[in-house]
Amino acid sequence: MRCPFCGAQDTRVLDSRLANDGDQVRRRRECHVCKERFTTHEVAELTLPRIVKRDGIREPFEEKKLRAGMLRALEKRPVGSDDIEAAINRIKQDLRAMGEREISAQVLGEQVMKELRLLDHVAFVRFASVYRSFQDVSEFTDMIEHLQTTATDGGSVASGKEPVRQK
Ligand SMILES: [Zn+2]
Repeated sequence: MRCPFCGAQDTRVLDSRLANDGDQVRRRRECHVCKERFTTHEVAELTLPRIVKRDGIREPFEEKKLRAGMLRALEKRPVGSDDIEAAINRIKQDLRAMGEREISAQVLGEQVMKELRLLDHVAFVRFASVYRSFQDVSEFTDMIEHLQTTATDGGSVASGKEPVRQK
């Protein structure tokens, strides 16, 4: 790690210890060049990566949006809330495990499809058929919301495989 005093590249760790109940590693370092000493604190990165949309716009990861998109796909399907929450947690864990500050919306969409495929096949087909033409979970959510507010029969998301309900 670079020395904050002289900018030298090489510093030596003199001492490492856990701090803050084990949530942090505190390191005492010394610069090889100017011999100054300083302390660093290492903490786990828990923030989720930002989402890079197709048009290049960055936005923070929004669990609310993710959940809304998945619930739309799972509407009237026999899938319990606990299973949905577990799937959302797995998606978040996977995103964190990538260790990136930014990921494309497409990567997020693929994660969602992976989980939906395990949860419910119909929901997967619904999501995939619409998502693949949008390449963006938030666009998917916006589109479905738009459909639901304009449709007179509250029409389901077209998968082509479901019977059309008529009233
Ligand atoms: Zn130095």
